[in-house]
Amino acid sequence: MTFLEEAFEVLGKIKDSGGEAYIVGGAVRDLLMEREVGDIDIATSLLPGEVQELFDKVIPVGIEHGTVIVRHRGKSFEVTTFRTEDGYEDFRHPDEVTFVKDIKQDLARRDFTMNAVAMDLKGKLVDPYGGQKAVENNVIEAVGDPLKRFEEDPLRMLRAVRFVSQLGFELEPCTREALTTQASLLKHIAVERKASEMIKLFGGPSYRLALDMIAESDLIKELPILAEFPSFQNHVPGIPLLTWPEVITYFLGVGIGSGVNAWTKAWKLSNQVRKDSEKLDQSLKIFKRHSSITPWLVYQLPEELHDSFCRVVLSLEIGYSNIQEDLQRVHTSLPIRTKKDLSFESSDLIAMYPNRIRGPWIRDGLQSIEKAVVQGEVSNEYERIKEWVQQWNQQENN
Ligand code: ATP
Ligand code: MG
Repeated sequence: MTFLEEAFEVLGKIKDSGGEAYIVGGAVRDLLMEREVGDIDIATSLLPGEVQELFDKVIPVGIEHGTVIVRHRGKSFEVTTFRTEDGYEDFRHPDEVTFVKDIKQDLARRDFTMNAVAMDLKGKLVDPYGGQKAVENNVIEAVGDPLKRFEEDPLRMLRAVRFVSQLGFELEPCTREALTTQASLLKHIAVERKASEMIKLFGGPSYRLALDMIAESDLIKELPILAEFPSFQNHVPGIPLLTWPEVITYFLGVGIGSGVNAWTKAWKLSNQVRKDSEKLDQSLKIFKRHSSITPWLVYQLPEELHDSFCRVVLSLEIGYSNIQEDLQRVHTSLPIRTKKDLSFESSDLIAMYPNRIRGPWIRDGLQSIEKAVVQGEVSNEYERIKEWVQQWNQQENN
């Protein structure tokens, strides 16, 4: 059974109970484009409590906004009661959510016509704003008056641009003009919301177009760090970047931003992003210093960051195209994968110098051994390492 068929089962169950239900939003747009569907959102006339009663497994994620997650055949479906949104006084969240009975009223609150099409159980479309046509013509057009819609929720401007990146569509002229007029309102939007649109933007196939739009409009002024480097337009990455650590490492690589911390703080990104960015940044520095993939670089780079590292190097366009192969080759021939593989322990080192007072020399010594083994200066055998330490110590003393 396909994902879509499973979604239709959810619609069927709601219909059987006397409610109305439609697939809405990005899923319908992607179906019309014959593009792979990511997640499937469902809009219904049932109230959240009624949906909870109807299905066995329901996670109440945002009852006050009318949203629950229905788990069906191991998949998640976001099911939201038809609603309108009134008043956006604080530019962030609608002051009031009103549940309504009609799908058309629900579609009216949606951002772009391509996102305001609903599909029923039989595949029939409800399309009051010509969303299907917009998809056919590759156009992003605001539902209703774009000036007003961007004022209500300025994040929509950034969403428009990230859809440009992902879909390669053009902005309808009035929508485009409104974006120029209203761009500065983006300052009212929480940075976390901006961040989740921006990362999708960096990863889209038409990211160049989208970054141009950002640079040419005042949107750039409301994006932390990038705002201070209007010349970032001259530093467009060579390929799409898929994660924040990739984006951060890329920009630091071209001299934008003062360090990983500055980026993760300004964009309020997670600790995991910070840690991964630090590892990537460190690896990139080693790579630049040696102009090649060294064993030490690969040893320090966790395997789950290999793809990210390759993408960063390619995005910097430093004339290195077979990076993936090189990384794989060096990785396969590493003599050890972790410190635990080392045939020499701190107790071995202490045993060699029983009269020395314990101190940082033990940790430093082991680290030197680890590096020497990784770089192939000494083989990973107890006796060889012991000899190597003795020689090294003699040189130190001379
Ligand atoms: P994606 O494929 O990236 O998930 P999407 O169009 O589904 O794209 P979501 O952020 O998942 O985008 O939002 C789902 C739907 O909710 C949108 O298609 C749109 O109809 C509506 N929507 C989301 N954010 C807004 C907003 N800020 N203003 C108006 N409508 C919105
Ligand atoms: Mg979606």
